[in-house]
Amino acid sequence: MKEKKTFKAIRSDAGAEKKPAAKLTEKLRKKNSPEQQQKPQKQGKTQKQPKQKQQKQPKQEREQKFPALKAQKAQAAKPQKPMKAQKTAALSAEEVISPKKKKSALPKKEIRRRIETAEPTQATGTTTVKIIPLGGVDGIGMNMTAFECGNDIIVVDCGIAFPGEDMPGVEVVTPDFTYLQKNEDKLRGLILTHGHEDHIGSVPFFLKKVKCDVYATRLTLGILQYKLEEHQIREGDLYEVRAGEVVTLGNFDVEFIHVNHSMPDSVALCIGTPVGRIVHTGDFKVDYTPVGTTPIDLARFAELGRKGVRLLLCDSTNAERPGYTPSENILTASFDRIFSETNKRVVIATFSSNVHRIQQVLEASEKWGRKVAVTGRSMQNVLKAARDLGYISIPEGLVVDLAECKLFPPEKRTILTTGSLG
Ligand SMILES: [Zn+2]
Repeated sequence: MKEKKTFKAIRSDAGAEKKPAAKLTEKLRKKNSPEQQQKPQKQGKTQKQPKQKQQKQPKQEREQKFPALKAQKAQAAKPQKPMKAQKTAALSAEEVISPKKKKSALPKKEIRRRIETAEPTQATGTTTVKIIPLGGVDGIGMNMTAFECGNDIIVVDCGIAFPGEDMPGVEVVTPDFTYLQKNEDKLRGLILTHGHEDHIGSVPFFLKKVKCDVYATRLTLGILQYKLEEHQIREGDLYEVRAGEVVTLGNFDVEFIHVNHSMPDSVALCIGTPVGRIVHTGDFKVDYTPVGTTPIDLARFAELGRKGVRLLLCDSTNAERPGYTPSENILTASFDRIFSETNKRVVIATFSSNVHRIQQVLEASEKWGRKVAVTGRSMQNVLKAARDLGYISIPEGLVVDLAECKLFPPEKRTILTTGSLG
């Protein structure tokens, strides 16, 4: 995806007195002490996600192992409703996904859950928060921003850029991690806003250099896991988060806010810091009638606005163009028209990550009696992740491999493909 970031490095050290970072850390440690955690509004908990394997453990055993589980189960274990609740049959095309491949492609890294219900910190005391863009500023791709406060650094996104014509032989371009490598002991977490290449593409390269835990929503982690597996990355834990949750990482409280984007499970961030809230929108779109999900949580943005936001980092593709982007929903009619009027093969190119659009193509193809062939590795990977996690519904027998597709007459074929940007 082409993303143009315009925010700049900002050194926010407003405030009269300086408080040593150590003291501040101590203060935050107190905040997270057991007594404080008893407060209903500050129940920071860390716990393993009950994985499928663990779900098979006897209930008592699990609750013994994770005492917090029982208490928090009601609120914490609420499953996030996938857009398409029912998991449908496997893709039939072997190159897309075969039962054998499916097993080996399944994530090997454990995903944990870390749930906190605290409201992001409001400004208390004074200190300095540094915002260090390592990529993605005034350019396309390679989104990566570090936030530093005292002895803590969190990093938001870790994407790649695609090489230009002046970089022959270069496959991908990653941000320069040198600063973070030098300060590895301060790293408290890498937070991913969504699963586009320009936001997660560099994570394997980053995790090869430093050890850092990763926080992201379910689909983002699902896509990331294929990448980590390809690169044989075992370092750093993965934590699944959901919109509405807050995770405390050193001096930062990070809240995840649901937004619309061409990738499901995208989130904006409200980063609570000792000098005030920083809202980082990530990539977003305001869609009141999105496909397969709910509209952006504008109410939460409004609420944060009322409470006070110290800094807003906001941008989105084509933000400089006037007007607004139509809802994804209008494409349903367009696909329907194209499929009904065409007597030939239909080839559709889309970003592989645009799961909602792919869903519409699949539905239109099924409606008009066409078989679908999927080409391109990233398209296949995203489809696997989206299908395994219940974000896309693929009717049995609809998707066939390319060779099989050729056996059908042209008017019964749809080819779904993607470009270099994934
Ligand atoms: Zn994006």
